Amino acid sequence: MLFFAPAGKKEHDMPKDYIIHASAADGMMRAFFAVTTDTVSEAVKIHNTTPVASAALGRLLTAGAIMGFMQKNDADQLTLIIRGDGPLGGLVVSAGKDATVKGYAYNPDVELPLSRQGKLDVAGALGKGYLSVIRDIGLKTPVSGQTELVTGEIAEDLTHYFANSEQTPTAVALGVLIDRDCSVKQAGGFILQLLPGCPEEIAGELEDKLAEFPPLTALMEQGKRPEDIMHMLLGEFGCTEIDRSEVNFSCNCTYDRVSRVLIGVGREELNKILEEDGEATLHCHFCGKDYNFDQAYIEEILKQTM
Ligand code: ZN
Repeated sequence: MLFFAPAGKKEHDMPKDYIIHASAADGMMRAFFAVTTDTVSEAVKIHNTTPVASAALGRLLTAGAIMGFMQKNDADQLTLIIRGDGPLGGLVVSAGKDATVKGYAYNPDVELPLSRQGKLDVAGALGKGYLSVIRDIGLKTPVSGQTELVTGEIAEDLTHYFANSEQTPTAVALGVLIDRDCSVKQAGGFILQLLPGCPEEIAGELEDKLAEFPPLTALMEQGKRPEDIMHMLLGEFGCTEIDRSEVNFSCNCTYDRVSRVLIGVGREELNKILEEDGEATLHCHFCGKDYNFDQAYIEEILKQTM
């Protein structure tokens, strides 16, 4: 028997990562369903994360992409920061309205035994700590909210954040499945919100539905796409897709932008750099790129900041 690759299904025309925005229950619910496998894979490749760090970073990247897309204006920027006392130390994720997302883990090489349930121990890696949500919506200072981590599994922590800081009943599901070779097999998530005025009985029905809903990565392993998962979860509430966006891992750092950081360190520090090293290398934590500033460049900055 001969096996042939399915015609026309080359890697480059496989559907990429995306988020769909849906509305249900006559506008009383809004929901976002995302597949982020390529995005999380890209982050894992850049940061060379261990499986537990990949799972943690992948979950927060997925949440970040969705919450970025949930923002109102094109220029709005969202940053999620988790700081914990566990061996991972923390995570930083930043996302725009176009669902472009970037992020890193403080200690990407953390290794931990599996949890008692045989899962990657994200909660153990993060430990006790805080989740901060920083929204830069063009005001003088960004708006930020902070809540204590409740489980350290990230989805529950975000649910807690939405309920406490934004007074919005929200269900968050995030899933990252790591393969035996440490690559990302599946990644995705959804965020579902009840809007003001949503009747109690609808909220109750949804809660029941969520309680018995299968794990996201299990559904993705069966080949389910975000729209399938939307129909499975919200079909009986009369859901419709409103719009969608591609999701990409991308960093917007540039030589210019990074040089502003260098200018910001001040004359004294710059003089010290010149004396001690003669040059400076700044590292972008988000994408791993190094920017080198030679002696002539630093002298020029010093001249200009006289
Ligand atoms: Zn960068």
